[in-house]
Amino acid sequence: PQLANQIAAGEVVERPASVVKELVENSLDAGATRVNIDIERGGSKLIRIRDNGAGIPKEELALALSRHATSKVHSLDDLEAILSFGFRGEALASISSVARLSLTSKTAEQTEAWQAFAEGSQMDVKVTPAAHPQGSTIEVVDLFFNTPARRRFLKSDKTEFSHIDEWLKRIAIARSDIHFTLTHNGKQVRQYRPANTDIQHQQRMGQICGRQFAENALNVACEHDGLSLKGYLQSPFDTVVSDSNYFYVNGRLVRDKLVNHAVKQAFAEQGIEHLPGYVLMLSLDPHQVDVNVHPAKHEVRFHQSRYVHDFILQALQSALIQIHQ
Ligand code: ADP
Ligand code: MG
Repeated sequence: PQLANQIAAGEVVERPASVVKELVENSLDAGATRVNIDIERGGSKLIRIRDNGAGIPKEELALALSRHATSKVHSLDDLEAILSFGFRGEALASISSVARLSLTSKTAEQTEAWQAFAEGSQMDVKVTPAAHPQGSTIEVVDLFFNTPARRRFLKSDKTEFSHIDEWLKRIAIARSDIHFTLTHNGKQVRQYRPANTDIQHQQRMGQICGRQFAENALNVACEHDGLSLKGYLQSPFDTVVSDSNYFYVNGRLVRDKLVNHAVKQAFAEQGIEHLPGYVLMLSLDPHQVDVNVHPAKHEVRFHQSRYVHDFILQALQSALIQIHQ
């Protein structure tokens, strides 16, 4: 299983940022409202994620480290219509095959916390008592220590850390209800406080997309026939063009040409030729969209892409009307 896990790891675990992504998504799946991310040396020395989510019951700790153990898919239909981030049950097993991984966790029902770590090449899992409040801490130490070719492939600490930082921005903007902190080598680099009021939302957006964008952004809010688009479009009058382009489909960040095309077209109709910043969240029936099963890519295919494109365009046109009022 070790080899199979290492092969699977090649797909899931490209670099430290992909480990952070998998672990933070698990924290969010577990209902955490607070996620602390500690990084040392760009993540090659240490990635530690601490959350206040539901926790993992003692008897499931060892299982969580084994391949295809997922508590999230119960039927094929679940798979098709999946809305939670994780659905493959491979991330933890893959990560633990290429790093020293430990899980410490406590559920609300348990009076004690437990820690599990994989030992040796057979991946026997040891479970011992530990101290931890409700939630989980996952520690990933010495990433790629046993796959030297991979390790050599890592860029400088600074570059690897910036990938983590960028990825966190994407999730922090979509999940403004979550308190995130990020440290590097013991120094706090980011603190995203949960945003409840409009002012707090604007502050958080300013932290991530720049102040001018946040202060002047046009509101996008449109619903039609099961489709919904919400978010912000940069004002055409901003002097600094933001390169913050975030598009989410059912809460999942995706890269898709369709949205850029619609944004460009909406701006072109106003006589403006640049691509502005945007933060747009599209919700639709999960059966109307295929999410690429490749975990590291973020691609989707809409069954009715023309229809979705035109819906987005109309939503943006309505937002742009605001500036003439
Ligand atoms: P998946 O997320 O696809 O189910 P993972 O390998 O990422 O697979 O995680 C395996 C299982 O471990 C999850 O299904 C979940 O039950 C449990 N788990 C992992 N991380 C956490 C966490 N931070 N809090 C609670 N449960 C977790
Ligand atoms: Mg997962």
